[in-house]
Amino acid sequence: MKRGEEKSLHVSEAITRDLLVQEVKVWSRRIGVEERLKEIHVRPMKRKWASVSTRGRLTLNAELFAQTAEFRREVIVHELVHLKLNHGSHNSLFRALTRAYLYGLNTR
Ligand SMILES: [Zn+2]
Repeated sequence: MKRGEEKSLHVSEAITRDLLVQEVKVWSRRIGVEERLKEIHVRPMKRKWASVSTRGRLTLNAELFAQTAEFRREVIVHELVHLKLNHGSHNSLFRALTRAYLYGLNTR
């Protein structure tokens, strides 16, 4: 996910790396990519909040520690849906799935 898409940088909740990794693991189970997620890396990133490779290597920006739980969730789900669909496109299927995982199927 590119930077500049975040809603707010003002509210922060500091969390530890282990918690971030735990959040990723919980979502990988929900989204059904647990098997495909091979590596989780956390490091400073200049231009992105996160990225994922088709081989299952997820990299998260260390600055996510200082973001809200809601924003971390958006970033994590975004990347894991890319992994699920096995492409980097933000097409309508990608957007529908991301919305469904974040907000449920019945909301508009
Ligand atoms: Zn993306």
